[in-house]
Amino acid sequence: MGLADITARVAAALARAGRAPDAVRLIAVSKVQPLDRVQAVLAEGHRCFGENYVQEAAAKWPALREGYGPVDLHMIGPLQTNKAKLAVELFDAIHTLDRPSLAEKLARLAQDRGASPALFIQVNTGREPQKAGILPEAVDAFVAMVRALDLSPTGLMCIPPEGEDPGPHFADLAQMAARNGLTGLSMGMSGDFEAAIAHGATHIRVGSAIFGARVYPA
Ligand SMILES: *Cc1c(COP(=O)(O)O)cnc(C)c1O
Repeated sequence: MGLADITARVAAALARAGRAPDAVRLIAVSKVQPLDRVQAVLAEGHRCFGENYVQEAAAKWPALREGYGPVDLHMIGPLQTNKAKLAVELFDAIHTLDRPSLAEKLARLAQDRGASPALFIQVNTGREPQKAGILPEAVDAFVAMVRALDLSPTGLMCIPPEGEDPGPHFADLAQMAARNGLTGLSMGMSGDFEAAIAHGATHIRVGSAIFGARVYPA
């Protein structure tokens, strides 16, 4: 538990996989964590964080960036189209591009701003009806559609079904990315980031193993 422990486990998993020591970006997922825990991780020198809610991130990060300097901020939660403008102003990467209407909105914003956050396309590898994401068989066409909008997606993202071996989901995602010429793989959380690293993850999203259990307001 804690940043130093997770950093050491990431390094060990990379070494076991024969991958370079800097091949994975550790995104510390700070959603709903108390401010003092976030500040403690910033004080340890970590500068890459993930948030699930635009509003919460907008309330928290401008002041933290002022206090601690540049922070690489990743949006990893579902993104409503009407929050897309605020999201592209705040985040360096969006991991949850999951539908054509959001791609169109992000393309218009990129044109207006002359820049876009890094974009990951979320894939519903487990075909779960309650989960967002492009279905596996629709991924190639969706990547092409996003590129036709003049956006350059960085990679793919998935959240494997709970209680299932995540390995096959990670392997599927890696294969879909490779055949589409995408180098980014956002996969792996507190419970499975080592398996994700073995399957080629480039971005892991780790929350509770760094900060402790999340306490949601009652
Ligand atoms: C909350 C969240 C995480 C972090 O989960 P932990 O199990 O606490 O590591 C990672 N990815 C997404 C998409 C999340 O919503």
